[in-house]
Amino acid sequence: MKLKLAVGLGSTCSGCDIAILDLAEKVLDLVEAAEIVFWPTAMDFKLKELEGLEDGEIDLGLYHGTVRTSQQEHMAHLLREKSKALMAFGSCACFGGIPGLCNLTSKEEIFRAAYKDTPSTVNPDFITPQTEVRVGDFVLTLPELHQDGKALPLVVDVDYFLPGCPPAVELIEKLFPYLSLMQGGELPPKGTVIASDKTLCDECPLNRENKSISRMVRVHELIPDPKICLLEQGILCMGPATRGGCGASCIKVLMPCRGCMGPPPGVKDQGARMIAAIASILAVSDEKELPEEEVVRLVNGIKDPAGTFYRFTLPVALLNKKMREDK
Ligand code: SF4
Ligand code: SF4
Ligand code: SF4
Repeated sequence: MKLKLAVGLGSTCSGCDIAILDLAEKVLDLVEAAEIVFWPTAMDFKLKELEGLEDGEIDLGLYHGTVRTSQQEHMAHLLREKSKALMAFGSCACFGGIPGLCNLTSKEEIFRAAYKDTPSTVNPDFITPQTEVRVGDFVLTLPELHQDGKALPLVVDVDYFLPGCPPAVELIEKLFPYLSLMQGGELPPKGTVIASDKTLCDECPLNRENKSISRMVRVHELIPDPKICLLEQGILCMGPATRGGCGASCIKVLMPCRGCMGPPPGVKDQGARMIAAIASILAVSDEKELPEEEVVRLVNGIKDPAGTFYRFTLPVALLNKKMREDK
C-alpha cells in the first residue's frame, strides 16, 4: 500500500512548494512512492479534506511557512494530529523565517505601514483587514493575524526538520529514504535535521587565511576576489554561524551566505554566534590599539543588524524571548 503524504502551509511565499516541484522528473518518483492526500498549492484540495482524515492517517506531513494567523495555527495542529511524522519544511517552518521578522515590530505598526503610510496608499479612514465581514445576514469569519510570527516547533511537536529558503533539491531528495523507511525500517531519531552537521564554512570552496578585517562593506561596494573568503574581504557572510548542506550555492556565485540553513548543531542563537564570529575577526590582532571611534565605525558598517543576523531565525532566537519578556 502507498504511503500518505500531505503538504500544509502557513505564512509562505510558496517557494517551498516550488522547491518540491524542482525535483523535476523525480516528482514522478514521489508520486510513485506516496499518495498525496493534501497539497492545496499544487492541487484542488480543501481544508475539510484534511479535517476528514483519521488521526495518524498521514504517514508524513510537511508544513512550510511561518505560523502567523489563527487559520495557519489550526492547520499546524490539524497536520500534527493527522500525521504519524511531522516535518518542518523550509526555514520559515523550522525557525520562523523572514515573515518572523515581524516580531521586531507590532501588528499595529505593520498595519499602519501597509494600509496607511505608504506613499501609494489612499486610505483616509484607515480601513484594515477585519476578522468578521457581514453582508446582510451572511457573516464571514476570517483568520486573525497574530502579534507574533512563530516557527512550527513553537506551536506543535515536530519530528524532523528540513531547512533552507527554499530547501535545496539535493536535501529534498533525501526524503525518499525516509519514505522507504516508513514502509518498514528504523526511522532517524526525532529532531533529526536533514542537512549537514557542520557549518557552511566547512563546505565552502573559498580559502580562509585567518586574516583580520578593518572595514565591513556591502556586497555592491566590492568586486570580491573569487578565491578568498568573503568575510575576510569585509563582506558580511553568515557562513560561520550557519549549518551546511546547501552546497554553498550562494558562495559559488560569490554572494555571501544570508544564513537560511539556520544555526549549526549545538548553537541556539544564530545571530549571537555570528556577532561573536565578527568580533573575533574585526582587526583582531590590533584589538588593543583600536580606538573606540574606529570600533564604532566598523560596527556601523553593518547595516540592519537585527535583520542581518536574525533574517531567518528571529522567532526561535534568545533575542526574541528577551524582547517579549521586556514588553
Ligand atoms: S522558507 Fe523561504 S521559500 Fe520557503 S516559504 Fe519561507 S520564504 Fe518561502
Ligand atoms: S565566511 Fe563565508 S565565504 Fe568565508 S569561508 Fe565561511 S562560508 Fe565561505
Ligand atoms: S549559502 Fe547560505 S543563504 Fe545561500 S543557500 Fe546556503 S545557507 Fe542559504
